[in-house]
Amino acid sequence: MEIVKTQANQPYRSVNENPCHMCMPLGGILAFAGIEQSMVMLHGSQGCSTYMRRHIAEHFNEPIDVASSSLNEKGTIYGGEANLKKGLDNLMQLYQPKLIGVLTTCLAETIGEDVDRITLDYKRERGMDDFPLVSAPTPGYGGTHTEGYWQALRKIVTGVASKPESRPGVNIIVPNLSPADVREIKRVLGLLQVDFTMFPDVSENLDRPWARPYQKVAQGGTRIEDLKRMPGARATIEMSLTVDDALSPGQYLKDEWRVPLYRVPVPIGIENTDRFIEVVSGITGASVPQSLKDERGRLLDCMVDSHKYNSRGRAVVFGEPDLVHPIVATCRENGIHPVIAATGGRSKKLTELIDAFPSEAGQTIYLDEADFMGMLEKGRAAGVNLAIGHSGGKFLEEKEDIPLIRVGFPIHDRTGGQRVMSVGYTGTAMFLDRVTNALLESLHRNYRISMYQQYYQGYRKRPVVLRKRR
Ligand code: SF4
Repeated sequence: MEIVKTQANQPYRSVNENPCHMCMPLGGILAFAGIEQSMVMLHGSQGCSTYMRRHIAEHFNEPIDVASSSLNEKGTIYGGEANLKKGLDNLMQLYQPKLIGVLTTCLAETIGEDVDRITLDYKRERGMDDFPLVSAPTPGYGGTHTEGYWQALRKIVTGVASKPESRPGVNIIVPNLSPADVREIKRVLGLLQVDFTMFPDVSENLDRPWARPYQKVAQGGTRIEDLKRMPGARATIEMSLTVDDALSPGQYLKDEWRVPLYRVPVPIGIENTDRFIEVVSGITGASVPQSLKDERGRLLDCMVDSHKYNSRGRAVVFGEPDLVHPIVATCRENGIHPVIAATGGRSKKLTELIDAFPSEAGQTIYLDEADFMGMLEKGRAAGVNLAIGHSGGKFLEEKEDIPLIRVGFPIHDRTGGQRVMSVGYTGTAMFLDRVTNALLESLHRNYRISMYQQYYQGYRKRPVVLRKRR
């Protein structure tokens, strides 16, 4: 297969139109959201936290509180240390969190705030030496929300993991997945009867049951005590083949605490799910129960049922590298041609992974630093008839009438982003049904449109313009 490597920012367009990613601190907030009773303080101007809170709340359909040090003109010129410390005092008083993450924004980084030093001073001055106050540099211009997510995870582990006493369990480190996906991975591990620490764990606190009285800080998340014990785990399984070593918490645990590290793709697709279960079984000796074998059998049945429709699919797959790779793999194992794979940042590892797919199924165009205008132009030329990714792709749906399968983050133009499940044998079957049904709907709609077009044109003797779905 010839892989065409190119960037969305072609020489003839020097701007990024409708980018495929969000800014670094937003990803950092998502990472901290998966820790028990944690809160985030954004060091910067207030608008950053408002934008991020809104984006996250729309996806998860949950209230999201993010504090801000609210830098103004004075703080920008003379430094924002006093604002940050006062904000942390308020945060402690109002929320009584068990852990606080301090993330920087463009403004704080541009004026050169030394947040590590300020947070250390703060702990010393308040007599809070043992309190986990974790700072992470996340300038909005420094990378994508995916990099911010991994940066924050690495900082949390570096700052909190401290107890090397061995224990039989494994660390499971997951990328930015939906609460439903994390719940499904936990369910599968439960079927395998494996002791594990899920990090981070958004399964409960970003998809919480309705309850009264309202709690300002949701229940759930990785327990601080479990975070501390991560160096004593039997092994770490990190669900990412694309994260850089410098941002990888699993790599830190390996280098610093000698915890064996296994990297696996997110278990979407039969091959990727098989691999995850094999790795878990290999480390722990867990045997695969019949119920899980049955789920695999049902997925195979689903693949047989849908394969005859899928060969007409020509997909653009976009979003975070950790999702793009397994979704491209799932398309390929089900006869859908992933014509374009795109991500908002730069990922050498994703390029190599896409490159490594077998060649007989045709060409895949790889776009990094992608925007939706670039995808639209490339997709139009390549005859794309299916888009798989987050809500940013609605641009393709609206402009080109390409059906969009919403998966990943953010999903802000539909409800239920927190319940979208695509992992494991069962989640893959659900994902495949969504994809196949979109292709079927498109097929039937086109069939009727061409039929009516001929019918009306025959009687009216004038052209009838009906929009054709791809
Ligand atoms: S890009 Fe910078 S200024 Fe904009 S929201 Fe992100 S951190 Fe704030």
